[in-house]
Amino acid sequence: MERVVIIGSGCAGLTAALYTARANLRPLVLTGTQPGGLLTTTTAVENYPGFPEGIDGYELMTRLQKQAERFGARVKFGSVEAADLSRQPFGLTVDGEPVAAEAIIIATGASHRHLGLASEHKLENKGVTYCATCDGALPVFREKPLVVVGGGDSACEEAMYLTRFGSVVWLVHRRDSLRASKIMAERALAQAKIKPIWDSVVTEVLGEKQDKVTGVRLKNVKTGTESAVECAGVFVAIGHVPNTQLFKGILDMDESGYIIPRRGAATNVPGVFVAGDCADRVYRQAVTAAGQGCAAAIEAERYLAAGTGKRGHQ
Ligand code: NAP
Repeated sequence: MERVVIIGSGCAGLTAALYTARANLRPLVLTGTQPGGLLTTTTAVENYPGFPEGIDGYELMTRLQKQAERFGARVKFGSVEAADLSRQPFGLTVDGEPVAAEAIIIATGASHRHLGLASEHKLENKGVTYCATCDGALPVFREKPLVVVGGGDSACEEAMYLTRFGSVVWLVHRRDSLRASKIMAERALAQAKIKPIWDSVVTEVLGEKQDKVTGVRLKNVKTGTESAVECAGVFVAIGHVPNTQLFKGILDMDESGYIIPRRGAATNVPGVFVAGDCADRVYRQAVTAAGQGCAAAIEAERYLAAGTGKRGHQ
């Protein structure tokens, strides 16, 4: 029987692990399929406090895991396949094995949003990708025109990173101004290799016959004009969807699937707490996720100290 199980190993999950470990709860952290979470795919994190020169995302998460383990957190590679939150102890199925827990902290984060095109799906990993830092250096993209879709911080970051490899980076955005923070937007637009294509959406990824991306078909949403742009890669950076499908119908969620926290980190199920991007559609920063992980850990510790879990729900 676990006292507290933390589902997810991003900034929120590992900070919750650090705090529950220091409370002597020996938390079990289940990593999910991407240990360290989405931040591990980022290069320089420049806005995490305490690192004036910035820090590599993978290194930040490795350090955070070490810090949590130092106080007794157990980090295990595994994914939760089912969750029974209807009675105490809670029951989880982790890669086929049952795990019982008195308290649970959900920190499952969010995944990349897809464009939802059939051609995008067919050409995924054949030129369509959701992570420039993971795939940008591949030989197929070298000295070739590349397309980044999106107008947020992620799209700007991806586009800037890709200027190292591509001959030109077309930044396709559905409006005529970027959503990205001012500093990121200005940096991206100042790069000679980055060429914005405003008011445009991708209607098709081209290259199905060749079994590799050869271009994209675009539509200008203001004029309705269609055009095609040649490229070897399409980097989709249009935001994220919360990883909360497992808890649909059990935990209160908004229409987009973000868990709705009550009184900070609590949920509608006593003993189940939530932190990070799976419950935050507003801030979605590494540092806010870490703060929410801390809050969830403190709430879980108080819940366990009160003995509510052992007595069962009223
Ligand atoms: P985001 O801020 O939600 O931006 C998503 C972008 O994709 C928006 O420009 C949006 O257009 C566009 N978009 C959404 N759905 C689309 C669709 N179906 N077709 C075409 N375009 C679509 O997401 P993000 O850039 O991933 O950033 C997420 C969070 O992480 C933000 O809070 C951001 O500040 C943070 N972040 C920070 C950094 C950094 O500081 N270094 C780096 C990466 C991310 P509209 O603008 O028209 O809505």
